[in-house]
Amino acid sequence: MAKILQVQTYIASKEKACHEVGIISSVYRFDETVSEIKLLETIDFLNNDEDVDGFIVQLPLPKHIPVDKIIQRINPAKDVDGFHPINIGRMVLNLPSYLSATPYGIMQLIERYNIETEGKHCVILGRSNIVGTPMSILMSRKGYPGNCTVTLCHSKTENLKEICLQADILIAAIGQQEFVTADMVKQDAVVIDVGMHRIPSTETKSGYKLIGDVKFDEVAPKCSYITPVPGGVGLMTIVSLLKNTLKAAKKEIF
Ligand code: NAP
Repeated sequence: MAKILQVQTYIASKEKACHEVGIISSVYRFDETVSEIKLLETIDFLNNDEDVDGFIVQLPLPKHIPVDKIIQRINPAKDVDGFHPINIGRMVLNLPSYLSATPYGIMQLIERYNIETEGKHCVILGRSNIVGTPMSILMSRKGYPGNCTVTLCHSKTENLKEICLQADILIAAIGQQEFVTADMVKQDAVVIDVGMHRIPSTETKSGYKLIGDVKFDEVAPKCSYITPVPGGVGLMTIVSLLKNTLKAAKKEIF
């Protein structure tokens, strides 16, 4: 139930942001039992609608739906989440593309705060297609932000703590609540928390609060910079979606 509420919150935030900047948005909601055919038909409809510049399919999808097939059906020119293999491939080759929204948001944060990246060791926790893997490509590519030496960690990584302690820039995207603790972080490191978990709370009116993959209170004093949850990477993901949609409307990429 908490997961569903969390997804609804993501969607509501994206709708609100579109409204604030003057992008007309529509939400197509389906039951958990929706068929693959129905989803593919909806994607075809949006691909062919000339009034639609860009759209996303909000993940996660129900288990019976093949995510790759759904993502690959999106017209790459309208893929403002940047998940289509053509956009990922173009990103890898440093060609114009829609960058995956969360990594793109992180790149913008790094740039806005003038964080030095050249020659730095960037450790990324998590290798998902939507966050960890594209992040590793972006941080290691030539240019700024980039030129990092990147270590991409996952559930089979050995000596995780020792690797994290070597990080000048630590990006946590593993989906484990408050996994990164102070003893895993080097003094003055930059810590970027992608994680987002909705947990019950007596401190808020809603009865829930959001926490990340990093134990913020104990890690923050050691960092030169750290992103909070909420109010950090999540917001930047939405900014990136809006920017990609504007690029789509201007036909800047395709
Ligand atoms: P995901 O698909 O669940 O992938 C998690 C990754 O972490 C996998 O690569 C997994 O390794 C690795 N992992 C899991 N447990 C680990 C452990 N104990 N030690 C080392 N590695 C471990 O995650 P995701 O979709 O990238 O999302 C990650 C987090 O970011 C979630 O909390 C999600 O809600 C959040 N998120 C936030 C935003 C935003 O806008 N703020 C956007 C997207 C996601 P294996 O590959 O070996 O399984």
